[in-house]
Amino acid sequence: MKHIVCYSGGHSSALVALEVAHRFGTKHLVLLNHDMHFSVEHADIKRFKRDVAEHLGVPLTFASRRNATQDQFDVCVESDAFKVNNGQEICTARLKTEPFMEWLASNASQDDSTIYYGFDATEPSRIQRRIGIMGTLGWKTDYPRIWEERKYENTEALGIPRPCTYSVFKHGNCIGCLKAGWQHWYIVYCTRPDIWLKAMWAEDEIGHAIHWDGDKPVYLEDMEPRFAAMKAAGIPATERIPHQRFWAQARRIIPISDMQIRISLPCDCHEPS
Ligand code: SF4
Repeated sequence: MKHIVCYSGGHSSALVALEVAHRFGTKHLVLLNHDMHFSVEHADIKRFKRDVAEHLGVPLTFASRRNATQDQFDVCVESDAFKVNNGQEICTARLKTEPFMEWLASNASQDDSTIYYGFDATEPSRIQRRIGIMGTLGWKTDYPRIWEERKYENTEALGIPRPCTYSVFKHGNCIGCLKAGWQHWYIVYCTRPDIWLKAMWAEDEIGHAIHWDGDKPVYLEDMEPRFAAMKAAGIPATERIPHQRFWAQARRIIPISDMQIRISLPCDCHEPS
């Protein structure tokens, strides 16, 4: 049996790798990762992936896009769109889903492989959705974070600190994630002007906005003066403040509609739809 862990570089996927190794050993364990461009995947996420893999004595297996110089904005500009027809972000498709399915087709067999995901007990609908989609394609999946017997709750107990990005961001997504809400993008505006500018370039090239307020596009350029006012007023750039409190503070300074307060989602990587 091949045990294929969708190993994103996030803390949950590391716990999954540890649980699977604990239960089945490491001989047939695959830590499958999509290595993202260094400008949008923090160096400490790359460090964390390596540390956990070294702890297990298992090499990282990369299923990455062949053109490794491209980030999420490049692949969207290349396709002249931010989303594919089914509404999925193009970056997820090009940088994660397609390399994942190509890797599975060439390296794994449905008869003797299980694919492991990091969803936990708070995410039953995501688990059901994944079981359905992957099951329809013929793949067996499992979810070690809902196993009754679990050994690991954090990597710090092993002396491996989780990526420092968690002190600010909720998820281990790309910085400047196309699925993220404005709270994430406020952090990008305040701390990563290079990524903010690149995202503006992508909107300009494609002629579409990343964010929408109902059926109305809201370009990064539109948000710039509002974010500048928030920054000047000292609104902290973090997703660690619950979004209700964050936006209650922000609303004292800028107008923003409920619709615009989209909550950041983790990237559903490895997921055909
Ligand atoms: S994490 Fe966000 S930006 Fe990166 S591939 Fe996924 S949806 Fe795209």
